[in-house]
Amino acid sequence: MKTALTTDTPFARNYAREVLLISHGKGVWLWDGNGNRYLDFGSGIAVNALGYGDRRLARSVARQMKRLVHISNLYATAPGMELAERLRGLASPVGRAPFTAVHFGNSGAEANEAAIKYARLYAHATRGPGHHRILSLSDGFHGRTMGALSATPKEAYRRKFEPLLPGFDTVPFDDPDALREAVDDTVAGIIVEVVQGEGGLRVLSPEMVAALHEVTAAHDVLLIADEIQTGLGRLGALFGSIDAGLTPDIICLSKPLAGGLPMSATLIPERVNDLLQPGDHGTTFGGGPATSAAALYVLERITSDGFLDGVRARAQQLEEGLQALTARFPWIIELRGRGLLRGLRIDLGPDQDRLFPEILPAAREAGLLVLRSGGDVVRIAPPLVISPRELERGLRLLETTLQQIHDRRTA
Ligand code: PLP
Repeated sequence: MKTALTTDTPFARNYAREVLLISHGKGVWLWDGNGNRYLDFGSGIAVNALGYGDRRLARSVARQMKRLVHISNLYATAPGMELAERLRGLASPVGRAPFTAVHFGNSGAEANEAAIKYARLYAHATRGPGHHRILSLSDGFHGRTMGALSATPKEAYRRKFEPLLPGFDTVPFDDPDALREAVDDTVAGIIVEVVQGEGGLRVLSPEMVAALHEVTAAHDVLLIADEIQTGLGRLGALFGSIDAGLTPDIICLSKPLAGGLPMSATLIPERVNDLLQPGDHGTTFGGGPATSAAALYVLERITSDGFLDGVRARAQQLEEGLQALTARFPWIIELRGRGLLRGLRIDLGPDQDRLFPEILPAAREAGLLVLRSGGDVVRIAPPLVISPRELERGLRLLETTLQQIHDRRTA
């Protein structure tokens, strides 16, 4: 059956012109408008941890929607309170200092905006004006609003929108000495991803983890873990940053948090929370009762007995499958990422510009949805609930796709 591609969307042209028209989903499967079925190795860009069509998720939200959908942060609701309690409890035993409070927002970028503001507020209060620099790592991605974009070094995202905010600098992703050199007490915060979700799936090295700990402790700089893509189970742990040995002062969560509804959470320690006054930051929708009800259900599932063991087992299976593909196709030059967030770095030599862009459409035609990351990486991020059989099926579809690309190379 012909895939349901549409080029006639009424959306702003900042998205691709040709997109698949999706009708519905169940488990790890999606169906397009023409009834074709796809195995999803993308999870709506690392969001749909529980896959599609989860009835208990729908019931939790529907029950809450009948009671109260929105009331604003002028009031508190039981789901919002319970969710904040749960989140700070999950992270607190392992962070540098307990996370005593949560700011809810609606997107990853917003979580980072809050973190940047809080880091500047803290530096301003403890050291005075002029100590406001925010550092991020090369190829990092922190969002497209002006503050988050200022912390996103890649030229292609920024160029057309300059000038961005002053006081943002970049440090090479894997250069502990450059980091030590760059940090002094003019720095308010350093924002990092433990696996670079959009920037090519590189993993922070243990040397950088150690250096980040050292410099942030030495200069009282807040370490912000952008766990928007890596957090809540995707790397096989609740918090990928803490699992990798980082000691974040602030953690930003979003994508999987509310089961596909828009929500983010910025977890902060007491010494930041103590400085905040009403009105210093805020949002109309953040932490609403319906999205909070969804997130409570997601957290219940992700923290249930055996859930993360299952993710780690699938991650091992994926690792072995991708190793086999890497051995088979010599133009897969690197296997990147961790857990269920993996990347195949592709170098097709003189055919790269022609054939790399053909990989995602070829996978789609084969019945598999995968993502791209950076300029040359195929990203794989299946729902965390994927079964061993479904994962195996996805690996076979990926193999078929890569074989087709192999055959299309110039002899
Ligand atoms: N930070 C990271 C690590 C991300 O992967 C993303 C989105 O892909 C963002 C921030 C921005 O999130 P959003 O698109 O929800 O604003």
